[in-house]
Amino acid sequence: MKNIAILGSTGSIGVSSLDVIVKNPTRYKVLALSAGKNLKLLKEQIDRFNPEIVSVLNQDYADQLIDMLKHSPSATKVVWGEEGYREVASLNGVHMVISAIVGAAGLLPTIEAIDAGKDIALANKETMVMAGRLVVEKAKTKGIDILPVDSEHGAIFQCLVGHNRKDIKKIILTASGGPFFKMSQEEMKNVTLDDALKHPNWDMGTKITIDSASMMNKGLEVIEAKWLFDVDVDKIDVLIHPQSIIHSMVEYNDGSVIAQLGVPDMRGPIAYALSYPDRLSDVISPLDLCKIGTLEFYPPDFDKFRNLKLAYRAARAGGTMPAVLNAANEIAVEEFIKGRIGFIDLPRIVEETIDAHVPTEPKSVKAVLDADRWGRIKAAEITERITINH
Ligand code: NDP
Repeated sequence: MKNIAILGSTGSIGVSSLDVIVKNPTRYKVLALSAGKNLKLLKEQIDRFNPEIVSVLNQDYADQLIDMLKHSPSATKVVWGEEGYREVASLNGVHMVISAIVGAAGLLPTIEAIDAGKDIALANKETMVMAGRLVVEKAKTKGIDILPVDSEHGAIFQCLVGHNRKDIKKIILTASGGPFFKMSQEEMKNVTLDDALKHPNWDMGTKITIDSASMMNKGLEVIEAKWLFDVDVDKIDVLIHPQSIIHSMVEYNDGSVIAQLGVPDMRGPIAYALSYPDRLSDVISPLDLCKIGTLEFYPPDFDKFRNLKLAYRAARAGGTMPAVLNAANEIAVEEFIKGRIGFIDLPRIVEETIDAHVPTEPKSVKAVLDADRWGRIKAAEITERITINH
């Protein structure tokens, strides 16, 4: 029996993870959950899984949840805020923490889990983007495993099993291209939030769906892959594959390319991260290649999707630059969701922010958080200027 804590249990990855767990009750037990504000769903999860402890965003949400649980038979302890997330992440008896909070908010709880010696099933790519070197070093020191949940990284992880890292020629990250893949730059000027939320293949949380439309998601994944697999960023390519059937590939020095395929369903990579090196039965629908018929591939358009180019630039600059790129992107996405900026302003805010940053090598998590704060302030200033001039 593997005991699990889920950070971000009310999100898209959290819900899919619980679905995998519920179908494998003899293998997994939920000991702790964390949510942000979705108390209704969290209460349902508490009633169903009876965790020892749950954490929510702040004391106000905690008080509301305690009130909702007044007549519940569960003895679940309710905690909140940064301390609460730390408690969930480091709970005694937990073997693996699924890190699925969205954005930079996932960094500290994930680090706490590593420090507490828990294995990590990592969905929160922002952790690796912001603090890749520190996270990898900590994981090594603690002797814990970081298993990727992102479908692309889960695929690469599978393509690497049984091979030597020195034989890798290239990692090829596939990308659906998002809803605007075939649009011209001119047409992209007028896209709305609803347009950006219509992902062709994956059903995901709001932030990652917008990142997929702007291709920042793929950029963040390039940086995540660099740290997870210890490869130079120049050995990581992006390939547009609109069907999202090949989840990624590894090309070896002898010319062989190994790919991992499956229907697009996050329960696949989540299950593998939980069960590695075993495989669970009947996790996702079988792949019917005859029905799919055609798999297409295209090179990415770095001029149309400038975010991808900017992420490569940040990865090459290293140090605090990826944390600043991520912070600027989070601010830009929030402003786009609020309707204050247009879709094509997203890369503009990111670019101007990273243009203004001089990276240094962060020696501590605090230094990463300082860079994150700096990036947010700078991006907010740039946003104000853009909105005034609109
Ligand atoms: P969602 O937006 O669906 O869920 C996010 C989760 O984080 C929710 O439980 C939410 O709580 C919680 N949360 C949000 N803000 C905070 C905060 N400030 N403090 C604590 N908890 C918070 O996101 P996804 O599940 O789509 O994505 C989660 C992570 O996984 C992201 O890093 C994403 O890049 C990555 N990922 C997601 C994939 C997907 O298919 N969705 C695929 C690959 C990676 P609440 O809703 O209760 O407020």
